[in-house]
Amino acid sequence: MAAGSRDEIPRELPRAARLARILERDGAECVWCRRPLARGHHDASLEHVVPKLKGGPAWPENEVCACRDCNRARGHTAPAAWLDACEARGLQPRRDVIVVSLLKLRAAIEQHGGQRRARPYLAGQLRRMGLS
Ligand SMILES: [Zn+2]
Repeated sequence: MAAGSRDEIPRELPRAARLARILERDGAECVWCRRPLARGHHDASLEHVVPKLKGGPAWPENEVCACRDCNRARGHTAPAAWLDACEARGLQPRRDVIVVSLLKLRAAIEQHGGQRRARPYLAGQLRRMGLS
């Protein structure tokens, strides 16, 4: 995975601008159902890989793009479990994007500190996916 400037999305960008950059970074589609989502699409939504309820920060490392239907259907389900659920339904979710997000989030937390609630949750997800 190249660490080009393209991957560095400033946290302070407004939500709509972050979403546009995330679509450029990850591909213009829903991470779960792969439905095409062009920039400005009314169904494009910011999805937190580690749910906010579990302490997931509103950082670009923890944000991907999902369609509103998938975002709503997933709710607070853990990313590893939701990848499995999508695949069980015959979808081909972007497992690669979720893996990169989890690894980059771990690196960002190591660098910036804090995120005490997200840390053990993230470690559990990485273990579950065989990445720790
Ligand atoms: Zn979707």
